[in-house]
Amino acid sequence: MLTLRDISLFYYDVQALDSVNLTINKGQWVVIVGANGAGKTSLVRTIAGIHPSKTGKIQLDGQDITNRHSHEICKLGIGHIAEGRQIFPTLTIQENLEVSGYAVVFPKTKIKQKLEEVYHEFPHLKERCKQLAGSLSGGEQQILAIGRCLMAEPKLILCDEPSLGLSPIKVSELFQLLQKLHKKGITLLLVEQNVEASLRYADYGYVLERGQIVLEGVAKDLLNNEAVKSAYLGE
Ligand code: ATP
Repeated sequence: MLTLRDISLFYYDVQALDSVNLTINKGQWVVIVGANGAGKTSLVRTIAGIHPSKTGKIQLDGQDITNRHSHEICKLGIGHIAEGRQIFPTLTIQENLEVSGYAVVFPKTKIKQKLEEVYHEFPHLKERCKQLAGSLSGGEQQILAIGRCLMAEPKLILCDEPSLGLSPIKVSELFQLLQKLHKKGITLLLVEQNVEASLRYADYGYVLERGQIVLEGVAKDLLNNEAVKSAYLGE
């Protein structure tokens, strides 16, 4: 579904990504793990069209989407759940959801239908649809960010550090929710510092260090890899 070939990103003279190659198959759950500053967010933002790649090519279902604008990428079916949720705190829950439908230029009837689907998935959001999003807890805001992404009917979701700042029980609930969405057929690219949980749930993993992919493999195998254990799992 998605291929990255030789992707490099610079912030002026700081190189954040160095010749990254990556493949995501339809229906797969892929995770990118790495320490602070490894380049995970930069990679997600490059795919989402926020940062331009200096080299290489990104293809979605065979179509070249390299350096297309983020609103075009979104319309092509790539949803982006940004690090830190990035909800609109002064809008209500419902307005936050609707904004996403308008961003991909769905007609009003379709937005209504998508709203019903999201509310069916997350009844808690429906109960509090008129509440300001900024008054939600971190875990609830993360659910809203996921709901907002689903409003645009993505076939691939880029999910950046969703567990950040959540309690262990909320992290576990979050991973179960992502698993449920994945089982419904959504292809997922997750970026996480929570190496153990993400490798336990994902199908395939990449390890990113200083902007380079240094290791890749079946997620369960990476979980048992000695280098991964010693660098990221404190074993
Ligand atoms: P974290 O887990 O802390 O979010 P990360 O793996 O997502 O880290 P990035 O945020 O992508 O890493 O950062 C990769 C590198 O690029 C780091 O060295 C970072 O300092 C640098 N960087 C990120 N954003 C910018 C920017 N806007 N300007 C300059 N350098 C940046």
